[in-house]
Amino acid sequence: MDLSPVQAYPDAGRWTRVVLKLSGEALGHDGIDDPVDALTLDQLAKEVCEVRETYGIELAIVVGGGNIWRGTYGTAIGIDRVTSDQMGMLATTINALALQSAIERRGQATRVQSAIQMAELAEPYIRRRAIRHLEKGRVVIFAAGIGSPYFTTDTGASLRAAEIGAQAMLKGTHSGVDGIYSADPKLDPSAERYELLGYMEVIAKNLSVMDMTAVTFCKDNNLEILVFDVSTSGNVVRAAKGERIGTLVR
Ligand code: UDP
Repeated sequence: MDLSPVQAYPDAGRWTRVVLKLSGEALGHDGIDDPVDALTLDQLAKEVCEVRETYGIELAIVVGGGNIWRGTYGTAIGIDRVTSDQMGMLATTINALALQSAIERRGQATRVQSAIQMAELAEPYIRRRAIRHLEKGRVVIFAAGIGSPYFTTDTGASLRAAEIGAQAMLKGTHSGVDGIYSADPKLDPSAERYELLGYMEVIAKNLSVMDMTAVTFCKDNNLEILVFDVSTSGNVVRAAKGERIGTLVR
């Protein structure tokens, strides 16, 4: 029997190690000015614990910093690009520590590993040690992207996923966009969500849901990408289990 690509996707439960990419804004809440919202943070922590404890899936998290600072904010006011990007990487570290605290409050062990040395508050990024933490059931939170300016945490997440041998990168979106669409669904009501896409389609159609450097990297390294709405309760668990939500790119 021929299976259409949609029927064939995905085999739930086939991922044993994943990287969850959270944008910084996923830690906040619409209408609330604070960069980190307590209830949102706790809901994410609860789901992370469920992925780990109930389903035994090894989970690493890469968190962005856009709720606090982005490189472009600084360049717009005359701060040089490299400095401003370094400020962005510090912002990701603030978010990583917030996530660590929320996850550990629920009893799940974590480690933060930073791509920029900050010995007093995070381990340095060491690949073998990160893998060992995952094997021991700890959730590893990667801070400071890849530690270099001119990159984003999408690229950082795909790089870390390849390095630690994850099978997929779960890219959580927010603000009601629950996958990759044929056009911006907020501007074009006829826009349709794709269930399954090839890497080359994302690149050729310039479907700008994530950084193209990251998409290309995932293509070259056979890393599946699941783009899903992280603000819907339960979706982190559904995504990690490989349920049919959002858009799968492979
Ligand atoms: N950044 C960087 N190198 C990296 C990762 C991040 O320079 O490897 C900086 C960059 O300035 C970026 C900011 O950190 O704008 C915040 O990261 P990102 O934009 O990826 O956060 P998100 O949009 O996911 O919240």
